[in-house]
Amino acid sequence: MKALRFQSYKSAPALVEVDRPTPGPGEVLLKVAGSGACHSDVSIFTEFDEEFGPAQLRPTFTLGHEVAGWIEEVGPGVTGLEPGTAHLVYGPSGCGHCRACSRGQDTYCENASTMPYLAVGLGRDGGMAEFVVVPARNLVPLGDADPVAAAPLADAGLTPYHAIKKSLPALAGGGKYALVIGLGGLGQVAVQILTALTGATVIATDANPAAMERAAAKGATTVGSGPEQADQIRAITGGRGVDAVFDLVGVGPTIEFAAKVVALRGRITVVGIGNGTYPWNFYGLPYEVELTSTYWGTVEELYEVVDLYRAGKITPEIERFSLDEAPEAYRRLIAGELTGRAVVAP
Ligand code: NAD
Ligand code: ZN
Repeated sequence: MKALRFQSYKSAPALVEVDRPTPGPGEVLLKVAGSGACHSDVSIFTEFDEEFGPAQLRPTFTLGHEVAGWIEEVGPGVTGLEPGTAHLVYGPSGCGHCRACSRGQDTYCENASTMPYLAVGLGRDGGMAEFVVVPARNLVPLGDADPVAAAPLADAGLTPYHAIKKSLPALAGGGKYALVIGLGGLGQVAVQILTALTGATVIATDANPAAMERAAAKGATTVGSGPEQADQIRAITGGRGVDAVFDLVGVGPTIEFAAKVVALRGRITVVGIGNGTYPWNFYGLPYEVELTSTYWGTVEELYEVVDLYRAGKITPEIERFSLDEAPEAYRRLIAGELTGRAVVAP
């Protein structure tokens, strides 16, 4: 079968012929319906090398950590899963028996440093292929929902969902404001999740005006990038600032911007892996502002995300690509030319 593989550091992934995998004990073989292209993949093949990046993300492996598909075959010992049924894949894959994994939060596996991979498509073979093998416990049923359009939920949905859920206390109480910085794959879904879960006014910004138009169509109040950006947000919020900021870019200037507009007792969550720095000091932020990072989410939260999708409350916009077109999907992601999450549908 064909697979898009990360072959060597600092070079674009390549389409190669590989053997169709066989599910081992506790595993399932999925026929891939869709696999989303995430900006984190770009970091893997453009930024990482022997010194920089997690040890588990050494080449080579098949990309694709945002996957949905149909069960083709179950491995030894797997019961209760019917061939042909559609499932979304919870990507993170920890040891399965530590406290974090036991609560479904494989992202924070206590044994991560000794694991040979981080997730499906992150160190172990992912979904940019005709078939993928995943642990049975990582499957979340989709019922009759379209698995191609659902694929982005596995990361572009789950990651902002987890960040937003952790920020709900800052958005409770009425008259609150949320800000989403960076309106790509994750950001567009973040706007929908904020609207579905809170009554807060959702403000959104992006360097790309077309991305802001798409967020405005979902009900966000958009603010262009530029020197007057912070003043505009102060004006929209009546001077008090934003209660929960989600920085989906994470470079120095976006974190600094978040710090300028956050309200007293507000929360800034840096989700984007731009590796920016911020010089914190006692007077630099309003009192009791929390500045935090976050990584992906829990399997239980992915069930909640699927419920929101099936209820029509979040609908990722997608652009479909064939497996042969997967390199082009990443090219367009890097160039900022996409109008929806790129989903490779073999
Ligand atoms: P994307 O390329 O689809 O979207 C990025 C958006 O940010 C684009 O619309 C772009 O125009 C905008 N942008 C870039 N620089 C900007 C700037 N300086 N100011 C304003 N807007 C800017 O990317 P994505 O797949 O949505 O991922 C977003 C980020 O989240 C990436 O850094 C990715 O690595 C990271 N990520 C983190 C996690 C996590 O668990 N923490 C999970 C998935 C992705
Ligand atoms: Zn674990």
